[in-house]
Amino acid sequence: MPIRLFDSLKRETRELRPSQPDGVYRFYNCGPTVYAPAHIGNFRTFVVNDIIRRMLELEFGADKVKHVRNLTDVDDRTITQAKKENRPLGEITAHWTKLFHEDCDALNLLRPHVEPTATGHIAEQVGMIEQLMQRGHAYAAADGSVYFKIASFPGYGGLSRIRERELLVTDAAADSDHKNSVGDFALWKAYKPEDDGAVQWPGPRGAAAGRPGWHIECSAMSRKHLGETIDLHTGGVDLLFPHHENEIAQSECCTGALFAHHWYHSEHLLVNGTTMSKSKGNYFTVRDLLAKGATPAAIRYALLAGHPRKQLNFTLDSLHAAEKAIATLRAFRTSLPASGGDAATFAPVFAALSDDLNTPGALGALFTVVNKGTAGVDLPSFDRVCFALGLKLDAPAAPKAEAPAEVAALAEKRWAAKAAKDFKAADALRAEITAAGWQMLDRKDGYSLEPLKK
Ligand SMILES: [Zn+2]
Repeated sequence: MPIRLFDSLKRETRELRPSQPDGVYRFYNCGPTVYAPAHIGNFRTFVVNDIIRRMLELEFGADKVKHVRNLTDVDDRTITQAKKENRPLGEITAHWTKLFHEDCDALNLLRPHVEPTATGHIAEQVGMIEQLMQRGHAYAAADGSVYFKIASFPGYGGLSRIRERELLVTDAAADSDHKNSVGDFALWKAYKPEDDGAVQWPGPRGAAAGRPGWHIECSAMSRKHLGETIDLHTGGVDLLFPHHENEIAQSECCTGALFAHHWYHSEHLLVNGTTMSKSKGNYFTVRDLLAKGATPAAIRYALLAGHPRKQLNFTLDSLHAAEKAIATLRAFRTSLPASGGDAATFAPVFAALSDDLNTPGALGALFTVVNKGTAGVDLPSFDRVCFALGLKLDAPAAPKAEAPAEVAALAEKRWAAKAAKDFKAADALRAEITAAGWQMLDRKDGYSLEPLKK
């Protein structure tokens, strides 16, 4: 079934097709900046991209998809973090890369075929900057930094439709005082000992030593591993401007070829109805949710519960609903025969996913089948759906210490006493639970039992 996806550049839903004769579908997804844990909003984008990868594999074959997702391991944020901790940049980025991979594995994300790092591609970036300078698209400023000359690329703004006067008020102005025009952006940042510590490389010809700007990193890594023209470039909507707009300008001015046939952006995640922030107490990482007892499959399910191109409101209630859905799917799977089903039973699930990645529609269609019972369904056809959605149901739920029945009974009684506002009885029951070696953790909507640490 052809996969159709909204194209942010052409502003229409179009079919995904490999553009090159080898039939390989070339897919670039902007990866994380490894200076802190990725939050669940970042992971919404990565989970959505994982569904794209899975759908492409089902459509074109696993060996006909090449997926590249980079690691930004040098930029303002990574350098600032290294300075703050007074540790080498490579140590900081290695640490956060490892944790990012652990979170990806927990959420059952397929590893990209290539995961290039910006520091591993300095020569490619310097090469592109030199080409841009030779062709009159970039210039060295007085301090030895290099800027891209936006006025040299008539197509600038095609993706974001940003108008020139709007450029005047964006962050781009904060880049430096040395550039000729306020909208121009940095391709190369001259070394500043007070800011950059030990981080510097020899610069492009005619420029100072320093480090690449963030945008050129993706242009260079995409070109190196996927070639001049790719089939699909994706990221969160926050990357659309200026990052992706700048990538198009750099790449197309460098090669003279079309950069990407298709652009796709997933929307923001809200938590409790508002943007995530540490000060609001609604900032979650995958690890935070796992520590609250959430199962990875449920986190993934909750992140797919809304249309990827609309904002999704994540709450702990939505996570609990996802836990129930996963438990239902797990139980359904164990009752399926090994063969004899009709694969067409799940056609509506794939139809929804192929129609601009309608994940809530797909989950709805899946439950329509599940609610009807197992007739006409077998394990291989169900597992094909689970593969597309990346739901890992074959592994047992994470092992958890089970409280003995008598402790569980005490906890039930205490919860009831608390609900009845009989706090004296509740306290007495808590003492009994503690004496039995268990701790009862209350939440707004329930409780959990944890063994007391000895
Ligand atoms: Zn990027």
